[in-house]
Amino acid sequence: MMEPEAVAAGPKSPRDLYRHLARLGDPRAYTPESCERFAGEIRAIRRLKSERNAVVLAHNYQRPEIFEVADFVGDSLELARRAVRIDADVIVFCGVHFMAESAKILNPEKTVLLPDLRAGCSLADSATAERLAERKAALREIYPDLAVVSYVNTTAEVKAESDVCCTSANAVQIANALPNRHILFVPDENLARYVRQNTDKTVIAWDGNCYVHHQITPAEILAVKEKLPHVKVLVHPECRADVLALADAVMSTSGMVRYAAESPAAEFLVVTECGLSDRLTLELPEKRFYKACKLCRYMKMITLADTRAALDLMRHEIVLDEEVRRRAARALTRMFELSQ
Ligand code: SF4
Repeated sequence: MMEPEAVAAGPKSPRDLYRHLARLGDPRAYTPESCERFAGEIRAIRRLKSERNAVVLAHNYQRPEIFEVADFVGDSLELARRAVRIDADVIVFCGVHFMAESAKILNPEKTVLLPDLRAGCSLADSATAERLAERKAALREIYPDLAVVSYVNTTAEVKAESDVCCTSANAVQIANALPNRHILFVPDENLARYVRQNTDKTVIAWDGNCYVHHQITPAEILAVKEKLPHVKVLVHPECRADVLALADAVMSTSGMVRYAAESPAAEFLVVTECGLSDRLTLELPEKRFYKACKLCRYMKMITLADTRAALDLMRHEIVLDEEVRRRAARALTRMFELSQ
């Protein structure tokens, strides 16, 4: 698994911050005035991090100004794994609720804060532990060897009901590495179908999907490809099958970052949540990133002001039942073992 990106640079002046963020071409969000405000929040957050011995972990889909206070930027599991090796007392997770839970599952001794508790995930909400336990029991009557593979986009309770977790980067690898022939894949039906196409196992899908990826249509990809036939199309496997069929490469967000950096191609169409195109635009200015993306309203709930308040007031702590945490940790640890 790729290491999350370490963010080392010092704070930017309001003017430099404006120059930096203006490259995203969003004049309503990034004005000299808004960047002046952001620069003040960034200074305050950096001071609080040092006072609290805290780190900020930011998911790839976060607002670009959040990257300015992040110690690491990456996908959820990269960040959780990185957090295990961090010598800090407090983790502020700039992402959504299940990601902060994963950080807590793997770091029970650390205080994990989520700046806005409303930052949930419709995909994670589509599976509950009670429904999963019922479905698992019913399917095991038919397939006694059934294994439950849960995408990391699930609650801690659902992870605790699972045999192993997976990410979009290692889902196929995990399915192939399991000795079981029958797999119940929870909760993303699109990722389940992608896994089914890439393994000879019987993969039974849950009926959930990510509303952000599921609403991207082939017409949006074809409209860009018509004007730019040479553009490399990078698609996240949470997208629909007819969108995946138009991809040059199907990969996780971390895979896209690596692919764009290493590819000799100069122009890419990034088909996932829009935050990743923003990150790539800022990090690889010599390359061009077109968007066929949607915004995740949950990811965009996290702001610099709430991040500062979380650190200042030590608020919105993630607390888990210890038995649930221990069983969820077992599913995550098995994933690490099977995907080494
Ligand atoms: S992009 Fe989709 S899967 Fe990710 S947090 Fe948003 S709703 Fe959930």
